Amino acid sequence: MKSIVCTEPGKLIIEERSDPIPPKGWVTLKMKRIGLCGTDFHIFKGLHPFLEYPRVMGHELSGEILETPRNGRFSVGDKVIINPYLSCGDCVSCKKSKSNCCVNLKVLGVHTDGGMCEFLCLPERAIYSARGLTLSEAAMVEFLSIGAHAVSRGQLLAGSRILVIGAGPIGLGVALFASFEEACAVAILDVNMERVVFAENLSDAFSGFVVEDDVDERLREFTKGDMFDVVFDATGNAKSMEKSLDYTSHGGACVFVSVVKDKIKFSDPFFHAREMQIIGSRNANRVDFENVIDKIHSGKIPSSELNSHNVNLLDLPRQLPTWIEDGSGLVKAIAHL
Ligand SMILES: [Zn+2]
Ligand SMILES: [Zn+2]
Repeated sequence: MKSIVCTEPGKLIIEERSDPIPPKGWVTLKMKRIGLCGTDFHIFKGLHPFLEYPRVMGHELSGEILETPRNGRFSVGDKVIINPYLSCGDCVSCKKSKSNCCVNLKVLGVHTDGGMCEFLCLPERAIYSARGLTLSEAAMVEFLSIGAHAVSRGQLLAGSRILVIGAGPIGLGVALFASFEEACAVAILDVNMERVVFAENLSDAFSGFVVEDDVDERLREFTKGDMFDVVFDATGNAKSMEKSLDYTSHGGACVFVSVVKDKIKFSDPFFHAREMQIIGSRNANRVDFENVIDKIHSGKIPSSELNSHNVNLLDLPRQLPTWIEDGSGLVKAIAHL
């Protein structure tokens, strides 16, 4: 089969590999759609910590069942969504039903070869039905699930004032799921005007703010002086994560959605005076995937607006570097095969 392999940072090639053979009880999938995200760009640029090359990227995946074990849950030809978080089922976290932060977690396309290839074998528990979704919508479930999970971590109350920092795909997912909670006002902050305008056009529930000199004052006004009940940082930037605490109200919470390699510093008196919560959010669980699937079914996700770019998978080695050079207008690119 054909695979797209990142052999070393900056080098993406088409490689002929042998077709995978499913272990007993596993299904074989024909890959159909592969969403691209910041993680893939990081891997390509050599910025991902602890990543081993060569690597087949691809963790935002949908496909079709090609072969299924006898008495399996799926039938040949079924369209499916893939959960790329392969958890062990046995560690302290898995036993608490938190497989999203499994001690031994392996993410397809990051820690193990992913979906930028023709066929993939997986255990049935990593696969959900995509009935009623387009294949491209099915490939968007994973990144939206990260937003849905972060919102569940934030435990929003009715009428909460929410700030999402970072208007990339993950931040937009967070903002959408926050807006589904009762009477929540959602502000979105980004350094990039183009992204803020895109976000504002996505939902009437969003108020956009660009990082500029008086933005702190404007955010304070937006919340009538209180600052925000829950702040989500989806920037992947340590300075922004530190700054996000300034936007959190007394008794409020700050959810770190994206991860950085750096240490995060904050003032303890500031933190204590607010009795603030700082909450980590990592990946997503099955319940988050199901929540996203449900919201797509009910037409609440502007999936065609989010899917800004498309490419044939075999053209990706040529296309990916151009998107890294000029990412303007790029929200969610999806590779097809
Ligand atoms: Zn992703
Ligand atoms: Zn585990």
